[in-house]
Amino acid sequence: MDQYAVMGNPVSHSKSPQIHAAFAAQTGQAMSYRAIPVADGDFERAVQDFFAKGGKGLNITVPFKQQAWALARKHSPEAARAGAVNTLLFEDGVLSGHNTDGIGLVRDIIANHQGRIADKRLLILGAGGAARGILLPLLSEHPQRITLANRTPARALCLVQEFSDYEGLSACGFDALPGMVFDWVINATAASLQGDLPPLPEGLLSSHAWCYDLMYAQQQTVFCRWATQAGAEQSLDGLGMLVEQAAEAFYLWRGTRPETAPVIASLRASQQ
Ligand code: NAP
Repeated sequence: MDQYAVMGNPVSHSKSPQIHAAFAAQTGQAMSYRAIPVADGDFERAVQDFFAKGGKGLNITVPFKQQAWALARKHSPEAARAGAVNTLLFEDGVLSGHNTDGIGLVRDIIANHQGRIADKRLLILGAGGAARGILLPLLSEHPQRITLANRTPARALCLVQEFSDYEGLSACGFDALPGMVFDWVINATAASLQGDLPPLPEGLLSSHAWCYDLMYAQQQTVFCRWATQAGAEQSLDGLGMLVEQAAEAFYLWRGTRPETAPVIASLRASQQ
């Protein structure tokens, strides 16, 4: 049976084994998928060992996405731009790195929620690995502009400079946000993980603004609660993105695209 896994630290909480088991059952693929915890400093050996034993593909999560990028000999355009890899496989005998996070986000917004990014004013909060991963797929949808705001403004500025061939992309700190108005606010900070919220001013949302928290949790995240209170038309969490990025990885590995809606619905139900 073909073997797949997710490597990270910590990884025991990962929903990926459940998601890929559902995809495999639905599409009739003979495969197994497990979570492998990897100690700091042991990532390269663990990846080599996995593929040497016949493993077919890996998902990579925190904190190894950049190391996975460095290990890969070939990169998809999204991974090359992000400098981070969440999916590994051998293609034509070469270890290839992909980044399906941003594709997952865009598909969740557009296909699952019928949201629109084209011509919209986007604010992305955060400039870490997740923000890197979503920038190219979001820019590819032709928003009017994207502002990247980060607690450490210099980090946002560095990221924007890497995309200097795109117009309409700018960086700032949270203190520059008062007076600005956006149609989308996407939270790519890790603040929700600590139950924290970046300092967001009143009047940030346009009249039909949508908000998206990359994080998901059993209860509504702090950011989604803020969005609802601030009058957002939609306040979405990252569960759909998680399933969509997994579906894209599954497609890269197996060449077949699973139905995501029943898997999202069943995960949502199991969270109630
Ligand atoms: P990361 O690389 O560690 O970056 C963390 C970012 O959050 C940085 O910009 C950091 O700002 C900011 N931050 C952290 N604590 C903050 C606080 N209390 N207030 C304001 N800003 C804060 O993490 P990441 O990999 O980008 O992940 C970010 C989030 O995305 C996580 O919640 C993760 O679960 C989620 N995610 C979800 C999916 C999905 O499929 N749904 C996929 C990937 C990631 P500084 O630069 O100032 O430190």
